[in-house]
Amino acid sequence: MTQNSLKERLAAKEILLMDGAMGSELMKHPEYTGNHPSELNITYPGIVTMVHKSYVDAGAELVITNTFDVNPRKYENYAKIISAAVKNARDSGAMYVGLDIGPIGELLHPMGLLTVSDAFSCFKALALEGVKNAVDFFMVETVTDENEAREALRAIREVSDLPVILSGAFNKRGGLFVTGCKPEGLAKIADEFGADAVGANCSYGPDLMLPLIESFASATSLPIVAKPNAGLPDMSSGKAVYNVGASEFAGYMEKLVEAGASVIGGCCGTTAEHIAAIRR
Ligand SMILES: [Zn+2]
Repeated sequence: MTQNSLKERLAAKEILLMDGAMGSELMKHPEYTGNHPSELNITYPGIVTMVHKSYVDAGAELVITNTFDVNPRKYENYAKIISAAVKNARDSGAMYVGLDIGPIGELLHPMGLLTVSDAFSCFKALALEGVKNAVDFFMVETVTDENEAREALRAIREVSDLPVILSGAFNKRGGLFVTGCKPEGLAKIADEFGADAVGANCSYGPDLMLPLIESFASATSLPIVAKPNAGLPDMSSGKAVYNVGASEFAGYMEKLVEAGASVIGGCCGTTAEHIAAIRR
């Protein structure tokens, strides 16, 4: 029942608030030391749930699992990590929990050695775990190669009708990081292979994301997702510092909504304060 209503709400282009960053928030906790973010789902589930809950308390209806780099090629125990991650997200009380699927982390042939069928099987294994753990939707995010996105959508659609949100990471020239594919190209794949929303995450701050959202809006009738970073990272201290504050961020997000985005949230460097400011 929940998934139907999410599908309908997406299709109606209702404004849906997503969560903010997971990775940059986890790094603020000393318990993080020596643990890989995905493994924290098992070693320190309470911390992961606490970050999810901070977003739910701030008004986010959709949260995505702490599984950005989890796949069977990287983790032998990927299924165990996913079920822990879904439970951690559920424990936050979120209305909708999505399985977060990031890039496989290997370049597709001919740029790299990963074949299209390897990519498909990898995504299918993830999709099956999502179904098994009863997620409400899938989020294929930080896409850097549209061919990988296509395989992810094909694999998910083979096993599930749940909503899929597809989101790319774009460079400053407005192309996907690996292939340079423009929003129009990613939107075409989203339309053809059954995504329920398409757009951009990470990349840069909400100010620079405006032209991307405008391109998506003119290329597709699908709902558009915008999940920018809290600005460009300042690396001068040796670690990433994000400088766009909560109210400034929310101001830019309003412009992205005017440009056509309806599924909104934050990526790297955003906190519960950013999400609460958007909600206000
Ligand atoms: Zn990010």
